[in-house]
Amino acid sequence: MLSYQHAYHAGNPADLHKHMALAGLLALLTRKSRPVTYVETHAGRGLYDLASPEALKTSEAALGIGSVAGGDHPYFAVIDAVRDRHGPSAYPGSPLIAQTLLRDIDRLHLFELHPAEHAALAALAAANTTIHHAEGRQGSLDLAPPSPRRGLVLVDPSYEVKTEYDQTAAFARDLLGRWKQASILIWYPVLQPGRHLHLLQGLAALRPLTDQVSFPQKDGRGMSGSGLILLNPPQGAGEVLAATHRLTKGILTPVPPG
Ligand code: SAM
Repeated sequence: MLSYQHAYHAGNPADLHKHMALAGLLALLTRKSRPVTYVETHAGRGLYDLASPEALKTSEAALGIGSVAGGDHPYFAVIDAVRDRHGPSAYPGSPLIAQTLLRDIDRLHLFELHPAEHAALAALAAANTTIHHAEGRQGSLDLAPPSPRRGLVLVDPSYEVKTEYDQTAAFARDLLGRWKQASILIWYPVLQPGRHLHLLQGLAALRPLTDQVSFPQKDGRGMSGSGLILLNPPQGAGEVLAATHRLTKGILTPVPPG
């Protein structure tokens, strides 16, 4: 089932949470001169227009990127660079955030299954970037371990199917079995049935770094929060998550995971 379209949700509070962590982690990894591999299992189209009919229909970005003041953080540096290049209503998806922060020596593998999203993502083709029109979990397992072996994997499914929570936990365990040096960042939504608890329980033995925030529900319904699970956190990852909390006070409220 591929009915989810991120264009309706780009820049919302969950994107703010996930994308600030991603940008902070990539800035951390690229402080060292050695190259890294970046893999995305669910890439989306890479570049969004917050003035598009889809974005305006939900107005979700107003509660996320539209509410935050900015500050000294790699996420805001990416936002400025993308707006300079693509116009004031442009918003970078995670692949473009990664491409903006990574260097020519680093390697990117972006997986996207939806034909139209994949076609749009193809605009990000570059010498250091391979764009795969393939299932992201199996595709990442097939690559593992890639070269270079230092690296970060972003797992950002739409969780349209309830089995995706267990599937994601099993995938992350399998991937670490094949690629021990990988740091894996998994995003999850906090929704009423609490299905994210399966995901947290399925990965608890790996002692992840976790970070959950709450935010006001749109129209009192739907997602009430956003969570991140970081397996094999690089040194300094705790400070990356703390920086998000400092710069999003009043928008994202840190809560204990669960
Ligand atoms: N990571 C993106 C970002 O933050 O900008 C958003 C990704 S969106 C939440 C999920 C994407 O995964 C959608 O574009 C969807 O078409 C794609 N998708 C769904 N199932 C997939 C699968 N099994 N393999 C690869 N892509 C998939």
